[in-house]
Amino acid sequence: MFDVIIIGGGPAACSAGVYATRKKLKTLVIAEELGGQSAVSPEIQNWLGEISIPGAELSKKFVNHLRSYEGESLTIKMGVVTGVNKEGNFFKVNTDGNIYESKTIFMATGGRRRKLEIKGADIFEHKGLTYCPSCDGPLFSGQDVAVIGGGNAGFGTAGQLLAYCQSVTLLEMMPEFRAEAMTVEKLKQNHNFKAFNNLEIIEIKGDPSIPSGQVNFVKSLVYKNKETDEIIDLPVTGIFVEIGFVPNTEMVKSLVNLSPAGYIMVDHQTQRASQEGIWAAGDCSDVKYHQNGIAAGDAVKATEDIYEFLKSR
Ligand SMILES: Cc1cc2nc3c(=O)[nH]c(=O)nc-3n(C[C@H](O)[C@H](O)[C@H](O)COP(=O)(O)OP(=O)(O)OC[C@H]3O[C@@H](n4cnc5c(N)ncnc54)[C@H](O)[C@@H]3O)c2cc1C
Repeated sequence: MFDVIIIGGGPAACSAGVYATRKKLKTLVIAEELGGQSAVSPEIQNWLGEISIPGAELSKKFVNHLRSYEGESLTIKMGVVTGVNKEGNFFKVNTDGNIYESKTIFMATGGRRRKLEIKGADIFEHKGLTYCPSCDGPLFSGQDVAVIGGGNAGFGTAGQLLAYCQSVTLLEMMPEFRAEAMTVEKLKQNHNFKAFNNLEIIEIKGDPSIPSGQVNFVKSLVYKNKETDEIIDLPVTGIFVEIGFVPNTEMVKSLVNLSPAGYIMVDHQTQRASQEGIWAAGDCSDVKYHQNGIAAGDAVKATEDIYEFLKSR
């Protein structure tokens, strides 16, 4: 029986692991991968103490710090948690093949980008279709690109790309843009930026002269104007998708209250979820901003509170 099972391997989980182990709690970290989302970022410039550091290097530092406590009261297992159940006043955590028991659970499972599900999306991912403007944007310098998604994230990405792309076309499926009106107006003042709404995104196409089976890159994006039914084949070499973020919370959805978008709702003083014995922090919780520092800091709050909870039981 563990004192706490930490599910996740990003900054929230690593921070909680360090704190829990230093408090001598019998701790198990279960992670699909260690390091967290920003491992793919070429440069992180807002982690205190590191003026500029590649995401992969910062992630390695998080993991090394966590692993330095391994073997004391800390166990780390690689695996995917598929379910969490409460039995009496303890929890059973299921992974692919094993069941672990714990007095408390700390959810640090983060989230993932919502994927585009249209013809060609699977073929052209990483071949012009990307979910990471900060990683891949500069590769499209001087080129014509599209951004899919008319929320703040979509307009933010378009703003970044306008600094070095030849043209940026933003496409929104809904009748209205969801970004703040001022942001929309500001971007529309750029001569090389266009934004259209009320569209159906249909297909990503590559170079038709390349035989199937050989590496092909994005050449155009096909969409339909829902008002006029006109089909447009937009020539672009890069497509940036910003259609939302999905928190990884499926495994606790029957145990805790989730927000309408699926985030674990927590008390922001303590990071407690609605179910006694479960805490959450970072991008899987209903925190307003998604940042490494916030994930790590909120995990500290949670671990302090888990310690108090266990002591008083
Ligand atoms: C490209 C990019 C660049 C970014 N740049 C910055 C930046 O410059 N500065 C900044 O502060 N933030 C940045 N962020 C945001 C930052 O990375 C996140 O806010 C942060 O990683 C959230 O940490 P987390 O621990 O909550 O979750 P995550 O980092 O998402 O980690 C979640 C962990 O949970 C694990 N997991 C998920 N589901 C399961 C499961 N079922 N079973 C077991 N394990 C599971 C995953 O393997 C992963 O280890 C960036 C994000 C991206 C994508």
